Amino acid sequence: MPIPTRAAIVRERGGPFIFEEVELDDPRPDEVLVRMVACGICHTDIAARDGLIGTEFPAVLGHEGAGVVEKVGANVGRVRAGERVVLSFSSCGQCSNCRRGRPARCDSFDELNFEGKRPDGSTSIRDAKGKPISGSFFGQSSFAFRALTHERNLVAVDASTDDELALLAPFGCGVQAGAGTVLNELKPRPGDSFIVFGIGTVGLSALMAARISEAAPIVAVDTVASRLELARKLGADFTVDARTEDVGRRIREIAARGVDYAVETTGLSKVIDQAIRSLGPNGKLSKLGIPMDAPGEQISPPKPGPGQMVFYSIAGDSNPQKFIPSLIKAFREGKFPVDALVQEYPASEINEGVRDSLSGFVVKPVLRF
Ligand SMILES: [Zn+2]
Ligand SMILES: [Zn+2]
Repeated sequence: MPIPTRAAIVRERGGPFIFEEVELDDPRPDEVLVRMVACGICHTDIAARDGLIGTEFPAVLGHEGAGVVEKVGANVGRVRAGERVVLSFSSCGQCSNCRRGRPARCDSFDELNFEGKRPDGSTSIRDAKGKPISGSFFGQSSFAFRALTHERNLVAVDASTDDELALLAPFGCGVQAGAGTVLNELKPRPGDSFIVFGIGTVGLSALMAARISEAAPIVAVDTVASRLELARKLGADFTVDARTEDVGRRIREIAARGVDYAVETTGLSKVIDQAIRSLGPNGKLSKLGIPMDAPGEQISPPKPGPGQMVFYSIAGDSNPQKFIPSLIKAFREGKFPVDALVQEYPASEINEGVRDSLSGFVVKPVLRF
């Protein structure tokens, strides 16, 4: 039996999110139907809306879902109906990286997360006229009141209320990516210097993780004054306003030989250039931004020096089953105050949430269903 629900559909490249009646497939043996409680809005959703990810239109996006399991397929063993879950990215479970517990480096990552279809090419969502809609975005397409996902995407969490669960929605992507690249990849030691360029959800999560690692000093660079203020509250020792200050000179004043660890989240080549130039002799830079240069604004950043390293991070090389519970524990202990980033919106105000995310007015809009 098809399952009715309402989902925010983007009909064309750059178009608005509009809620429509849709039908989902009944869960296959390895699939899970989740009643969505909340979903964070991430810049990757906006990039996909703008056609930069390659997901075909019309599409249901959304990939920071949190909800309650409603129905499980016959072979699902990891979760059961009634359990509260956070939804994360998709992985195959069979390639060598998945078998080694590194699903963020899954061989099939792109097709499972961005293609809008299941691996066999089928789509799981149809509109009111019966036309197929791209679904399975990050294996979930969770800008919807119900989502069909795979058991590998789900992390059971012990939230006792829907309000508590809603705060955990961004752990599925942005929070995990930012914290993961610091704790799983860069691994600063106490007293190592750390800088983050671009302090949205990913950048602030990286900053909070650097603080857990006791990196020092911690420096945050951005162009929005309210975000720089938030960065100071969350543990930045220094902030640099890239609109009004000479970023390179300020960094050398703070760390004369350059910094040990850097995270870049904007995807702008001009900022990547600053990030590489900020590195010390053995500095390491993790890039997490989707390339966002406007036409004609692309520059070629310098090559890293012999002891330096620059790499592109996917989901912070996290294994959601282990990493998300460890971050939730840190959150509950007050060491990782993600609630400071979140602003809730009713689902009907999804386009306002996108607007406020793009303007920098809100760090992490979270939709409530
Ligand atoms: Zn895999
Ligand atoms: Zn995301």
